[in-house]
Amino acid sequence: MTRKIPITGRMNDDAMDEWIGHINGNLTDVKIVPLDELSSEEKAQVDCAVVLNPDPAVLESLPNLKWIQSLWAGVERVLSEYSNEDVKIVRLIDPQLSKTMSEGVLAWSFYLHRAMPTYLAQQATRSWDQPHLPTPQERTIGLLGLGQLGKAAALRLKENEFNVIGWSRSKAEIDGVETFHGADGLSDVLKRSDILVILLPLSSATRGLLDPENIAKIKPGASIINFGRGPIIDDDALIAALDSKHLEHAVLDVFSIEPLPKEHPYWAHPSVTVLPHCSAPTNKKTGAKIAAKNIAEFVTKGIIPTGVDRKLGY
Ligand code: NAP
Repeated sequence: MTRKIPITGRMNDDAMDEWIGHINGNLTDVKIVPLDELSSEEKAQVDCAVVLNPDPAVLESLPNLKWIQSLWAGVERVLSEYSNEDVKIVRLIDPQLSKTMSEGVLAWSFYLHRAMPTYLAQQATRSWDQPHLPTPQERTIGLLGLGQLGKAAALRLKENEFNVIGWSRSKAEIDGVETFHGADGLSDVLKRSDILVILLPLSSATRGLLDPENIAKIKPGASIINFGRGPIIDDDALIAALDSKHLEHAVLDVFSIEPLPKEHPYWAHPSVTVLPHCSAPTNKKTGAKIAAKNIAEFVTKGIIPTGVDRKLGY
């Protein structure tokens, strides 16, 4: 008999249908179905669910739930909204997502390295100025976060001859990359980076990490790329640092409120590039394969993938 695994979340019907189609295309003897299509008896038996931005009340209504497969890599929202410690939260770890993010980090690092914001501003005023162009080896890119995404980004930047350094909670080992950890390590990375790339998860330890004190430690004239989560940066402190020219430019893909409100000062700031949370969109085809593999292993062998650490918040 075909086993039914429900999918639930605050997403539109088209997105849900697409996910269902892709995941089911990778499964045999198991079928992903919308949670609403299960009877009350079936809901009482549910031990595993696929979720995307789920309503916590809906998850609470599943008494036998053991784990959920998130279709997103960042799980801070479900972690903060859904506190049932008996249910493991498994986030999406997809090598394609790491590739896409490393491509984004490389693209926007080159944007800053090749001074594109400067040339755009010059064109607007018909100015002809040729600033010094350092080599990539002379440019230090500091990555905050050396996980699935940070490691891939570090290697891609190294391939392109940048000098790469990085910071994480525990000590990381990456070929050719000088790595730091702990509070002192953070100061070193802030002081040395010409381009600082944030690829941290949002947790109680990283919320507001780039506060006025830490922003003041950043090398004068450096630029920031935030591809992690908006609340990691104190927005007022960043704007003050850009206004005073302590920092040169910020490429921001993530914000405390998304979509970024129309009246937000970032939109019109000459030293800010606003991106609409597009640095690494989830690829439904490859993401579905990973989710299907995890579900198949659970159904056939009872294996539940490693979940996120609720205490650490990622
Ligand atoms: P991950 O594999 O869990 O890696 C997280 C990294 O951050 C690890 O190196 C971890 O250190 C480090 N870290 C966490 N808390 C820290 C702390 N308090 N101090 C120092 N380092 C800390 O996560 P990932 O898959 O790389 O994803 C990172 C984040 O990217 C996601 O959580 C999500 O918010 C964001 N994201 C954004 C987009 C986008 O389109 N903008 C797309 C996908 C994901 P350890 O190595 O010591 O654990």
